[in-house]
Amino acid sequence: MPVDRSAPPEERIPSILRRLKRAYPEAIIALDFSNPFECVVATVLSAQSTDMKVNQVTKSLFRKYRRPEDYLAAPEDQLQQDIHATGFFRQKTKALKGLSQRLIDDFDGTVPGTIAELITLPGVARKTANIVQGNCYPQVQRKDPDAGIAVDTHVGRVAVRLGLTKHNSKDAVKIEQDLMKLVPKRAWPRLPDLFIAHGRQTCDAKRPRCEDCPVERLCPSSQEAGLADLYRLPPPQRKKTTARAGR
Ligand code: SF4
Repeated sequence: MPVDRSAPPEERIPSILRRLKRAYPEAIIALDFSNPFECVVATVLSAQSTDMKVNQVTKSLFRKYRRPEDYLAAPEDQLQQDIHATGFFRQKTKALKGLSQRLIDDFDGTVPGTIAELITLPGVARKTANIVQGNCYPQVQRKDPDAGIAVDTHVGRVAVRLGLTKHNSKDAVKIEQDLMKLVPKRAWPRLPDLFIAHGRQTCDAKRPRCEDCPVERLCPSSQEAGLADLYRLPPPQRKKTTARAGR
């Protein structure tokens, strides 16, 4: 019998991933970069900004600043000006200078590959570390006991709507743990790209296009099926609603 929305998450997830891969075959990280250092910089700049805005800024930034030494040598006000359009430019300037210094002091100027090392860089928390590792060091990720899944706002929302977690969509660390239990490790780097593509193109925060959704049959929040949107419900009510959808 085909799996549908009434099945538990562990039974639905293989089919969800298969369908999303088919629906978004081109899904890749939207930030532009050509090496791990640029990936860290772009990811730091993407906080509270859009990928499009970051790509506009990094187009000239990456021509001007190629190595950690270049960020350190730049006067603070100049660097602030160069990244101004991404917002929060003072904090981001501090982070870029801090992480450049750390890379030179502790890692011979190169970006490390393990999560434990990555999160020692100023401005790099677990989400950024997961993005950098998943995109630049997939071979390290396979062996790293601290590896995980990058959970941003789209990944969180889609995971909640699909009933893959009972946690609040903003609770990135708990959602990451739930997804890690459900999804095989080899699929961890691909999952954020697929969920982000789905969140942007179909499962919009305000108006999900459930009528065109490739995983509608597997979704306990389907508006097409007249169900309550788990993303809009406070967590305690989700359990009852998911159970009702499961009957
Ligand atoms: S059915 Fe609707 S709510 Fe569920 S994943 Fe698809 S678009 Fe999102």
